[in-house]
Amino acid sequence: MSPAIGSQPLTEDDILKVKNAPRVYRNETREKPLADDFMYAFKYNFPLPTHGQNTDILDIPADDEKNKQVIAEDFLKKLEQIIQAGDSKKFADLFLDTGVWRDKLVFGWEYRSFNTPKRIEKAASDLFPRTPTQNYKFIDPAPSVERPYPDIAWLQIVYAFDTDIVNASAVLNLIKTESGYKIWTLHTVIEGLHDYPEVPNKDGHMVGDKSWHKQRIEEDNLNGVEPEVIVIGGGQCGLQITARLKALGVTTLIVERNKRIGDNWRNRYEYLSLHLPHWGDHFPYFPFPEYWPTYTPAGKMGDWLEWYASALELTAWTDSNILAATKKPTGEWQITVERGTGEGKYVRTFHPKQVILATSLAGVPFIPEIPGVEKFKGTVRHSSQHDSSREWVGKKVLVVGTSSSGFDTAYDFARRGIDVTLLQRSPTYVMSLDASVPRMIAPLYEPKGHKIPDMDTTDRLAYGLPTGPAEELFRRTAEDIWNADIELLARMEKAGFKVWRGQRDTGQQTLAYTRNGGFYFDAGACKSIIDGNIKIEQGYPVRFTEDNVVLNGEREQKYDLVILATGFSNTVESIRSIFGDDIANKCNPIWGIDEEGELNSAWKLSGIPNLWLMVGSLQHCRYHSKKLALRIKAILEGVAKEPYLE
Ligand SMILES: Cc1cc2nc3c(=O)[nH]c(=O)nc-3n(C[C@H](O)[C@H](O)[C@H](O)COP(=O)(O)OP(=O)(O)OC[C@H]3O[C@@H](n4cnc5c(N)ncnc54)[C@H](O)[C@@H]3O)c2cc1C
Repeated sequence: MSPAIGSQPLTEDDILKVKNAPRVYRNETREKPLADDFMYAFKYNFPLPTHGQNTDILDIPADDEKNKQVIAEDFLKKLEQIIQAGDSKKFADLFLDTGVWRDKLVFGWEYRSFNTPKRIEKAASDLFPRTPTQNYKFIDPAPSVERPYPDIAWLQIVYAFDTDIVNASAVLNLIKTESGYKIWTLHTVIEGLHDYPEVPNKDGHMVGDKSWHKQRIEEDNLNGVEPEVIVIGGGQCGLQITARLKALGVTTLIVERNKRIGDNWRNRYEYLSLHLPHWGDHFPYFPFPEYWPTYTPAGKMGDWLEWYASALELTAWTDSNILAATKKPTGEWQITVERGTGEGKYVRTFHPKQVILATSLAGVPFIPEIPGVEKFKGTVRHSSQHDSSREWVGKKVLVVGTSSSGFDTAYDFARRGIDVTLLQRSPTYVMSLDASVPRMIAPLYEPKGHKIPDMDTTDRLAYGLPTGPAEELFRRTAEDIWNADIELLARMEKAGFKVWRGQRDTGQQTLAYTRNGGFYFDAGACKSIIDGNIKIEQGYPVRFTEDNVVLNGEREQKYDLVILATGFSNTVESIRSIFGDDIANKCNPIWGIDEEGELNSAWKLSGIPNLWLMVGSLQHCRYHSKKLALRIKAILEGVAKEPYLE
């Protein structure tokens, strides 16, 4: 038997084909799987402030590096004085021409990015007069010179300060120029509310005549209690925002339709483990224990969610559904919830001041309409309805779609020796964990020794760069990962699988913010493709016959099972199904990058007053749940300022 096509020796041509794979960003002559501006309205387009010829940007000399603390102190003092004096012109002059000030709920009470000095000056002139600041001081980590590449260096300064209402942090990145240090990026972020700190835990001693369990049940029932906030969905996002709100003393009810918290992970396909190391996934107030598997199995994640809800005593009504969710003409919410099933079922109507949708970024399963499906004698199902390959030994399977679920599903069939074909419609971004984890996650989040890094400190840095500069830097990281993976990618291409560099040549980075998918961190399937254990077909299904699937070009094959790993609709469809057309139609676009570089609607104004969207990966969830909880608490207490929307 001849060796599988992808595992045959690679020729120099095979390698060169991938090495020279076209760059798609701003390459108008190339046909792209996804346009540069797909769900991406932002137009920053400034290069990195690299030092070298034809620029006034300099490398940071050794002497400055030695004196970085003094330089940082001088700069911070100057910045503090300018901001306190409300001098927007001098403030804007501190920035590079490509500089960005990003503010999360400190000055503008919204997520905002002000790109370039002109916008910065306008925002500062509007916001400084209404925001007194004081108590500027350094916090961890100490000022450092960052040099991710030989041609770029910046002085990173992390500090804290107070406004009249919040305590805040900032990450300031300075570039050395002929005329001294200039700000490349400044990121100011809410960290807490002066007058409403997190409330300490209750004493655990039994003081009344009720056991802890009895008391918990009573608290959970909310008899005579109106929650101030209702959270719809009890996955990671619903639980973490509720934990944050609880810590701030806000009564919050989670409504979860599954029987148990954690079923959202338990009910996914049995083969699933998280695709990234858990290092960046710790939950607030309750980090994973030291001996936790690097890649968390889905079932274990489900159990963890249930433990979390229990340990933090969150009020979560499972097996419950929203029967009606409306807004009165006065703007108040009216939410009718059905709790339980059978005899124990009952209905309650609440009037929360705020509602948070945490039903995930995925809307409803997207199932393409393929003619003839009703007469097909085999089985057709969406990947979200598929559990395991174990029933299909000896059968023939087609998996349609090459996102993470498509790969995982195909791999599960291949490892049982089942005849499986993966159907690819357009090129897919693929990266190995060996190449990507050390470049994307390990530097900040990997435990040093056995010590879990402080997540607040680490998140500050991980989220420190605004979208424009971060994208420019990530384009380079993606190139490094691509080159490190060259052999893997060449073998995949040889096996008939088509790869590309990702939207805007940024690998998975932009795809995550626009499509929320469309990439694969290799969790094992690539080897099966290379070895021929997952067959690859290019194209898409055009119709079914009784026995066969017909692909474009009239290619016809018999299959017993067709899995449609074709993704999900936009989140707005979840809003529509819960709140109806009227509210869904008024909602801002969801996900994707807006004109100034912020994500649409996530964790910020949604277009519907007092309706918030808590979405995202475990890392996003930890970081943004803190900001959203503080914002909601400030609104409930009447101390939040008007969001700045100019
Ligand atoms: C193969 C694969 C690998 C992944 N790997 C990672 C990884 O390594 N790291 C990572 O961060 N993410 C990973 N993800 C993404 C992960 O799926 C999401 O991060 C996560 O599930 C999103 O959490 P969530 O709380 O927003 O939504 P979900 O986990 O989907 O939770 C939403 C909850 O809302 C409930 N719900 C929905 N509608 C209603 C309603 N109308 N009423 C009441 N309740 C409702 C659901 O039952 C569910 O419990 C992976 C996904 C896949 C498919």
